[in-house]
Amino acid sequence: MKAAVLNSPADVSTNPLHITQVPDPITSPGNVLLHVRACGVCRTDLHIVEGELAAPGRDRIPGHQIVGEIVNPGDSGLTNGERVGVSWMGGVDGTCWYCKHSMENLCDSPSFTGYTLNGGYAEYVLARSDFVFPLPAILDDLHAAPLLCAGIIGYRSLRVAGVQPGERVGLFGFGASAHLIMAVLSAWNCEVYVSTRGSSHQRLANSLGAAWVGGEKDQPPMQLDRAITFAPSGDVVISALASLRKGGVVAINAIHLDHIPQFDYDHLLWGERQLRSVANMTRSDAREFLKLAAEIHLNPKVTVFSLDQANDALIALKADKIDGAAVIVP
Ligand SMILES: [Zn+2]
Ligand SMILES: [Zn+2]
Repeated sequence: MKAAVLNSPADVSTNPLHITQVPDPITSPGNVLLHVRACGVCRTDLHIVEGELAAPGRDRIPGHQIVGEIVNPGDSGLTNGERVGVSWMGGVDGTCWYCKHSMENLCDSPSFTGYTLNGGYAEYVLARSDFVFPLPAILDDLHAAPLLCAGIIGYRSLRVAGVQPGERVGLFGFGASAHLIMAVLSAWNCEVYVSTRGSSHQRLANSLGAAWVGGEKDQPPMQLDRAITFAPSGDVVISALASLRKGGVVAINAIHLDHIPQFDYDHLLWGERQLRSVANMTRSDAREFLKLAAEIHLNPKVTVFSLDQANDALIALKADKIDGAAVIVP
């Protein structure tokens, strides 16, 4: 099959993904073989490819927002031709303390799609049959792909931040995940305040009904109940904290951050403000969010790339040149 393979991490400007022929994956018990119909591009892919996360091992195929059609169901009980989604969590041990306490997102021995397992920048991929999600028919391939990490983890961020209907919510950074959860926040009648760099991201936020849109250094004009940061920048976390009312929560939706600057406790965290990270996702987050996405007819803005253009997709993502989400169609 054709795949985009990472031999060793490097700056995306050097085209570290090699588009090449590799052997088809071999089905094994507990797995299903999927023909990839679309695979979303996530900022985590960029962190993996550039080596900001520990190296995944040689010859890894990235991609963890996979819409696939089952071509070999193995022993799963699923059927050939069924369309399913695969996300970042590729599997958990089911036996650790976290798994036993409904926190499988924090599992001690997890597998991650497109990182510790091969992912969806390829024509075919294997996935654990208990970690695939049936996709509502109303969501077509291109529009379902970005929901599978950007959407699900964005939705988890809303939960971690404790967002209630009608609240004032700040989104700091406006990439794929933020633009998807904007639709959820609208459905919940929240007022959304967006701080982001780049005039085209700002225009998109305005067109999606933000109450206020400013640059990355601008302070929202109202105190926020909740804030979610998406940019891989510690400065942005401090800006988000500075915008909170007492008792408010900042949820950091980023798997990697540069350094968080020293900050003033008395003004920024005192008053029972909370700073939390958002790590991975659970299968119930995925099922809840996909159901909600179908109910609210979530229709993300997508930019399509071919598998041959996998490096270009990552270069564009790094430069903030993609409004909405990038999707690779192999
Ligand atoms: Zn576990
Ligand atoms: Zn992701």
